[in-house]
Amino acid sequence: MANAISIQNASKTFHVGGKSIPALSEITLDIPQGAFVSLLGPSGCGKSTLLRVIGDLIDPDEGSVLILGKDARISRRDRDYGMVFQAPGLMDWRTIQKNVELPLQVAGVKASERAERARELLKLVRLDGFENHRPRQLSGGMQQRAAIARALSFEPKILLMDEPLGALDEMNREYLQRELLRIWQSTGTTIVFVTHSVSEATFLSTEVVVMSPRPGRIATRIPIDLPYPRTDETRSTEAFYHAETSVREALHAVLDPTPAGV
Ligand code: ADP
Ligand code: MG
Repeated sequence: MANAISIQNASKTFHVGGKSIPALSEITLDIPQGAFVSLLGPSGCGKSTLLRVIGDLIDPDEGSVLILGKDARISRRDRDYGMVFQAPGLMDWRTIQKNVELPLQVAGVKASERAERARELLKLVRLDGFENHRPRQLSGGMQQRAAIARALSFEPKILLMDEPLGALDEMNREYLQRELLRIWQSTGTTIVFVTHSVSEATFLSTEVVVMSPRPGRIATRIPIDLPYPRTDETRSTEAFYHAETSVREALHAVLDPTPAGV
């Protein structure tokens, strides 16, 4: 099967006020179709930059990005991507239904078709019954579910998520983690998920990619061999504890590298 994402030797340096900020250095990464890959690392290590490079929102200075075997630019035009960020970014003067319809409306999909599609998506994220609510009438978790529904409007093959659960309290966060896995399994989408939470990355992912800062590099890749569906019971198993520990150790090695021989 072709890789969903294939990055070869991608580097990116930002130039701000005469200063150079090396954000990504020589990133090479293949992500198979259907994977759920988390990018994990300390703040500023280039996670968002890498996600934006994948989504063709930033051009790398060097290297190449292929999405489903195509140039990333063509994939963006083909609407192969859905994107979700930390802030849901809903428009408060539109209903939830109309928010989810917006990308379809912009693309010129006719009214009856987009209304039906939005209703299906709201059902998928379990917001049926809230179609006519305004975003501010919903909890943060429900707003984020609406944002996920909106991101799925073109049935994207790849969902790019940048700390989408970062603003939620722990209960809501764990609930939405399970919901996200359910949606991932029912849609077959490939997900690239940015987080700085060890337990979140471990619980969700088929593989955790640990990044190190200045410049952002891939430090370690850790496959998570826990079976799906993963549930709340999964979190208290020994296998989960071991997986989480190996991810935590890889992250700590990046944060606090011990010099060789010490
Ligand atoms: P992360 O998401 O892991 O916190 P980012 O990818 O946002 O990290 O940032 C990586 C580095 O690149 C940081 O030092 C950040 O300040 C810098 N950076 C990110 N975006 C820009 C930009 N548009 N202009 C200048 N510097 C940027
Ligand atoms: Mg970021």
